[in-house]
Amino acid sequence: MDPKTKNQPQPPEQTLGAKQTLVEPLNTPTIANPISSSTEQNISQNHPQGPEQVQPMQFCRYCGATIFPNVYYCPNCGKKLKNPPLSTSISAQIKVYTFAVLLPPLGIIPAVRYLVSKEKHAKTVGIITLALTIIMTYISYVLFIKIMSSYNKSMSQFNELQNLGY
Ligand SMILES: [Zn+2]
Repeated sequence: MDPKTKNQPQPPEQTLGAKQTLVEPLNTPTIANPISSSTEQNISQNHPQGPEQVQPMQFCRYCGATIFPNVYYCPNCGKKLKNPPLSTSISAQIKVYTFAVLLPPLGIIPAVRYLVSKEKHAKTVGIITLALTIIMTYISYVLFIKIMSSYNKSMSQFNELQNLGY
């Protein structure tokens, strides 16, 4: 008799467990529904953007993440994918021209960088920088020759004075 009375309270526990299992599947669809609707919204939001962008999606060569073709830096790993367009702002132009004027032969580096650019305005900046580099290199060369000749003159004069016995 005792084992029967012990067995009898057990069935209610099982029914409670069955109720719990019944409640769980009811909750999961309500949670799953907003996710599926949100993903549907994302897809519907992405689709109109797709046909507008004729360029296909590209992959980062460093981490493999999908990236837009017009980005200069990977949004995932942050590595530079392609050189950003050269600035043609007034401040950027002043910097480049000053560099070309102060360091004549080295001005060729930014000049070439701007000349290679596909942008028309950047090319113009490159031409100006190149012209400034050529002019300043010529001026510095002429100045160098003048200084050297005057140095040689003074040296020869000094030698003449030494030869005279002073
Ligand atoms: Zn990356």
